[in-house]
Amino acid sequence: MSKGKISILGAGLVGSLLAILLKKRGYEVVLFERRPDTRKLGGIGGRSINLALSHRGLKALELAGIKDTIQRSCIPMPGRMIHDLEGNLDFQPYGKEGQFINSVSRGGLNELLISQAEEHGVEVRFDHRCTEVNFGTATAIFDNGNSESADYLFGADGAFSALRSAMQKTDRFDYSQMYISAGYKELTMPATPEGDFAMDPGALHIWPRGEFMLIALPNLNKSFTCTLFFPFEGKISFDSLKTPEDVEAFFKTTFPDAVPHLPQLKEEFFENPTSSLITVRCYPWVKENTALIGDAAHAIVPFYGQGMNAGFEDCYVFDQLMDKHGSINAKMLEEYQQLRKPDGDAIADLALYNFIEMRDKVADDKFLLQKKIEKKLNELYPDQWVPLYSMVTFSDYRYSEAIARGNKQQAIMDEVLSRPGIEENWEGLDFGEIVKSLK
Ligand SMILES: Cc1cc2nc3c(=O)[nH]c(=O)nc-3n(C[C@H](O)[C@H](O)[C@H](O)COP(=O)(O)OP(=O)(O)OC[C@H]3O[C@@H](n4cnc5c(N)ncnc54)[C@H](O)[C@@H]3O)c2cc1C
Repeated sequence: MSKGKISILGAGLVGSLLAILLKKRGYEVVLFERRPDTRKLGGIGGRSINLALSHRGLKALELAGIKDTIQRSCIPMPGRMIHDLEGNLDFQPYGKEGQFINSVSRGGLNELLISQAEEHGVEVRFDHRCTEVNFGTATAIFDNGNSESADYLFGADGAFSALRSAMQKTDRFDYSQMYISAGYKELTMPATPEGDFAMDPGALHIWPRGEFMLIALPNLNKSFTCTLFFPFEGKISFDSLKTPEDVEAFFKTTFPDAVPHLPQLKEEFFENPTSSLITVRCYPWVKENTALIGDAAHAIVPFYGQGMNAGFEDCYVFDQLMDKHGSINAKMLEEYQQLRKPDGDAIADLALYNFIEMRDKVADDKFLLQKKIEKKLNELYPDQWVPLYSMVTFSDYRYSEAIARGNKQQAIMDEVLSRPGIEENWEGLDFGEIVKSLK
């Protein structure tokens, strides 16, 4: 017997996973997606866009029973590969031996999640764009004239959520959005004529250049998807590169070792869209029998590789709360939003900060020295000193706890790094004393 009827808006990454978890709990689930079914259109089209999937996301996929299937189509990236202006390479491991993040195709992962949802018995209705919501009856109204009522309605409909827009029109709903001054553009680095990767596939490649950066993640077809994060306006910006010659000259001086592997650079730069980057914060996430989840509740900039992971973790926490409360109910939804809101805020802040780290600090000597000292501290005191990146990427620490611990550790590190001669003497540090100062 069904435990109740659920509508979910958005068959994206988070909506599809939530649908599987709710169906497994005995609910009747209908997933509404504004787009057509990309699986029937012959897949996701020519462009391959990938994401970094890490511990939190994998844990939620495991709960849905699909972790292994998905990991088979991932490429492990145990570290970042820094490219300097001369094309010299520096590999920096992300964590301990055996720890890595995973490059996965966004379209492939999404299609797999939708297929899995259907296999579990979820009904998916494509070409259904929600335009209005009636809170009293948890009814979604669609642009094709259909409407659907349910016991509960979830908005997993992304950064520009229709459910959230409806909530915004209600009393005492807090909302803020902020665009950063940089946007992004995806570029393709195809496989070599011999059919190989053009660069080492075992890394997330970064060309840090101060105010901007280029990154690249490997794909299963041996190509890389590169993303240029770049100011919209200013002296060096999307605005200032006006012709194919401008682009070529700029790339040749700024990313010289990437250029030979970007044969379609001049075309793609002008043909591919330039997209913006937004942070959205709002509260409450729950109104009557409706709730927000994933980007709809907390859209963040992509610099910690955590947006999807955070949305998947929302689903994991939601599932745990269903266990605790026996079913979805008002008390359970209240606990969900109280638990996840501080974590959504924390990862939003961390992601904004990490833009500075990725585009600037990873090439800095002090940053590298800090990494070395923190690695040693973590080896000696694994439970007491965990580098911030590891807490966020390879652990279950709540994001809000990770940021609090990370700030404390950073204050200690700032003091240690300011000590005279630290560059030469760091191995002689009293590591026990440093850890003690955490208390
Ligand atoms: C450049 C870039 C790189 C990123 N890299 C990473 C990364 O490496 N790792 C990571 O964890 N995260 C990354 N992210 C973030 C990640 O993409 C998002 O956090 C994730 O897609 C959120 O999933 P979601 O299901 O909540 O929203 P979405 O993926 O946006 O899905 C929302 C779905 O709802 C549908 N929809 C929208 N409106 C309606 C409506 N009105 N009615 C019906 N359906 C609707 C949409 O068509 C879509 O299918 C990146 C983001 C960007 C922009």
